[in-house]
Amino acid sequence: MADHTTVEVPEIKNVAEGIVVRQAIDNMGWADMGGYTVVIDALEKPSEEQEVIRAIQETIPSQPISKLINTHLHPDHTALNNRFQELYGTEIVNLRTYPDIAPEDGLHIKGEQRSCQVLPMPGCHTSEDAVVWFPQEAVLFTGDIFGWGMVPSIGSCNNSVLKQLISIYDNLISLNPATVVPGHGPLASAKELEQCREYFAWLGPKITELAEQGLDRKTIMTEVKPPEEMQHWWRFAEWKHEHNVRRLVQSIAS
Ligand SMILES: [Zn+2]
Repeated sequence: MADHTTVEVPEIKNVAEGIVVRQAIDNMGWADMGGYTVVIDALEKPSEEQEVIRAIQETIPSQPISKLINTHLHPDHTALNNRFQELYGTEIVNLRTYPDIAPEDGLHIKGEQRSCQVLPMPGCHTSEDAVVWFPQEAVLFTGDIFGWGMVPSIGSCNNSVLKQLISIYDNLISLNPATVVPGHGPLASAKELEQCREYFAWLGPKITELAEQGLDRKTIMTEVKPPEEMQHWWRFAEWKHEHNVRRLVQSIAS
């Protein structure tokens, strides 16, 4: 089970041979591709630059940092983009710099030691969401598409958004990842993706059903309890579940 107590303090984790994650409230990772390093996501605070660069150089020494992939373009994932460009001439890879990546195949990034794919999955959190998939090691960087139970939609939040989310989760689950690196918080696995999928599949219809019975918003809010097996999830029971229910109630029960 993911350790949810230490995430406030950044921790460097080797999730596979040559793939490192700096687990914190804002996550980032880097991988030894063989001959060069790829970085995934670039945090929110420019002040973390030196600490992060030291960690990259300690774990994967003496290699050019050739590419930096953003899972999306929100400021909490892109703060160090410019610094990597300035310091190392790093190429920035995201759905804005590569708008034409075919969704079914993705962008293949190959090295002598491993390869990864940038798979576009836009439309839920932002119009530029992509996941980064290392097939050999089964390591998946989801960005904010997986947020420990939070419906990642920042626009409207209704049954059709949930449907789209569920189909994205089906795609992610079919990859069968051993390690799931969310945009924020503790590392996860395919099991949590499955639980999250079931949660989304249950949540919308449940709220719809209660609204159709004529229950008022306040009653629905108290009726729809978080699932038992997700109670311990990071920031879930005390925040994300309630946030999800409130947003869905607003769109479904009004
Ligand atoms: Zn984020």
